[in-house]
Amino acid sequence: MKTIRLHPGKERSLLRRHPWVFASSIAKGAADSGETVRVESHDGQFLAWATFSPASQIRLRVWSFDASERIDASFFTEQLRAAIERRQSLGLDLSACRLVHGESDGLPGCIVDRYDDIVVLQAGSAGIERWKSVIVSALHTLMPEARMYERSDAVLREREGLPASTGWLHGGGSTQVEIGQNGLRFKVDVATGHKTGFYLDQRDARARFADVVRAQGLQRVLNCFCYTGGFSLAALAGGAQQVVSVDSSAPALALAAEHVALNGFDPARASFIDADVNATLRRLRDEGAQFDAIVLDPPKFAASPQQVERAARAYKDINRLAFHLLPPGGWLFTFSCSGGVSAELFQKIVAGAALDAGADAQIVARTGAGLDHPLSLHFPEGEYLKGLLLRKA
Ligand code: SAH
Repeated sequence: MKTIRLHPGKERSLLRRHPWVFASSIAKGAADSGETVRVESHDGQFLAWATFSPASQIRLRVWSFDASERIDASFFTEQLRAAIERRQSLGLDLSACRLVHGESDGLPGCIVDRYDDIVVLQAGSAGIERWKSVIVSALHTLMPEARMYERSDAVLREREGLPASTGWLHGGGSTQVEIGQNGLRFKVDVATGHKTGFYLDQRDARARFADVVRAQGLQRVLNCFCYTGGFSLAALAGGAQQVVSVDSSAPALALAAEHVALNGFDPARASFIDADVNATLRRLRDEGAQFDAIVLDPPKFAASPQQVERAARAYKDINRLAFHLLPPGGWLFTFSCSGGVSAELFQKIVAGAALDAGADAQIVARTGAGLDHPLSLHFPEGEYLKGLLLRKA
């Protein structure tokens, strides 16, 4: 077992159970990609078992803070079993669910999502890559009836020095399945869909939106960055008569339109715009359009800390335009999934947008990812998705 020694003082974050060590904290030692190492303080005290990532700035990711732990196949089986059991005990529907949420489930870099009978694995760290076959066989033991597909093609693989890797890990056949969420049906293609196929993290926010639309009797809804129509379908389920969905991806829009039919809604209530959201919002503003509710769920505008400032301007732009399109009493459900934009900063940005639009608003609710995307108390970076449900004054 190789040992990595940290610089004096750099043990602090590990003592607070934060699972990452940056390259600059390391005084001595190296290992192969994904190899398990013993991490110790400058004076030789055991701190953690971790996995080494030679290409990444996040050089170490912790498997365990327990000196007596053995990092072997049964360690991974146990972590996976426990993650699935936690979701079961929360009463979550495991047929459309994130089963493993990386660091927050004690498996840094490991994402496992389940869609119907397909379990999708995303190996986002050198350590998970190294243990991949063990993880696949453990998942197979835990869910023998499931097929398994790999979607290790996220950008963060590059930062780990790993090539993209996708395809069947177990079983085969069609990569498209149908899932149920909040009483609605969605088609998910695990090979071509975004992330592992679907934005499972917005389940609770979509349900909340349907409730607001229903309770307030909202009729005209604009869903920006609609992808396959998660919030559009929620609006239709809530009783909205006119739902306009905007996205720049034609395949996503086609699927969104299919979902309207699949769920038995009158297609006349839904329209789709294949265009840039910013340009569309400007055009709608210039035309004097008004909506009772607007959803803004953009992609991650800031992928790194260097991009936060530019991202802040982009968030402010779309939120300002949205405020212009709302009458007094109109609802805005606005999101940021940029990890580098904190909840506090996001609120400031949206407040600035309202000011610029000459609008005032109240925060009716704050939302985050659902319970299948747990948040470790010691890993604040895990809180990436922030939502503000606002009512314009
Ligand atoms: N709200 C969706 C998830 C949104 S993901 C849901 O509930 O499932 C972000 C979406 O924004 C993607 O579908 C992507 O195609 C789209 N997108 C990214 N940049 C865009 C732009 N400039 N204009 C329009 N759509 C964009």
